[in-house]
Amino acid sequence: MSSKLSGKVAFVTGASRGIGRAIALRLAKDGAKVALNFSSNIAKAEEVKATIESSGGAAMLVQGDVSSLAVVTELIKKVVDDWGRLDILINNAGITRDNLLLKMSEDDFDKVIATNLKGVFNCTKAVTKLMMKQRGGRIVNMSSVVGLKGNISQTNYAAAKAGIIGFTKSAARELASRGVTVNVIAPGFINTDMTAALSEKVKEVMMQEIPAGRMGTPEDVANAVAFLVSDEAAYITGQVLSVDGGMAM
Ligand code: NAP
Repeated sequence: MSSKLSGKVAFVTGASRGIGRAIALRLAKDGAKVALNFSSNIAKAEEVKATIESSGGAAMLVQGDVSSLAVVTELIKKVVDDWGRLDILINNAGITRDNLLLKMSEDDFDKVIATNLKGVFNCTKAVTKLMMKQRGGRIVNMSSVVGLKGNISQTNYAAAKAGIIGFTKSAARELASRGVTVNVIAPGFINTDMTAALSEKVKEVMMQEIPAGRMGTPEDVANAVAFLVSDEAAYITGQVLSVDGGMAM
């Protein structure tokens, strides 16, 4: 464990699996106490908590649906009641409900916007007052290469992920004078459950679009998060950092 983030408290949404899991482990390794949010997968979340604790870190589980402002407000309150502060928010929770526009249901559109975009609003709103009062904070929002370029069968997901970028730039402007930075990471094609669900044919096509010639790992994304939440990134706000092996350029 390093002490880069010692004394800091982080809240990571979607921390039970994939990218969120890797971010939680990395922030804990850098010395932060980490609140692990997830939707339903208690066994996986418990495993992340145990991994952090077995290397001397501190973690707590905060299960709940990010698409509900009331739920999220309660979870943030619990973390602040228990640990006294909140310095880092990673808005990572996300889902896909892919389909061609012609076949996409209203529910598929609404669910993806509610989780991926409104979830970011909810969590950010719930921490804003506290971070402003603390006169410091770090917020990192997970967009996607799809939010930059669009993708067939992902109008709902692309709208949410592009929305996150506009949201971030606005929040960054509102909070900059209080020492709170708000940035976006736009991952490319990362090896997680989300991409494992794609067909071999789609995976082959995606691979051809990656100049680096390989899929990214959750740790590739966690490395970028570790930088954006560090003291070294204090003067960086409202930015979109692609972690995609060159896919978006
Ligand atoms: P993943 O493996 O499918 O994991 C998703 C995580 O989000 C899980 O922890 C899940 O909890 C949680 N979650 C889902 N709905 C939630 C809700 N309503 N409230 C709270 N938590 C919720 O996804 P991933 O690939 O790691 O992706 C993480 C983020 O990166 C997402 O925002 C995704 O859009 C983005 N991203 C991924 C890629 C990629 O290639 N994988 C590329 C670009 C962007 P449960 O375990 O309880 O279900």
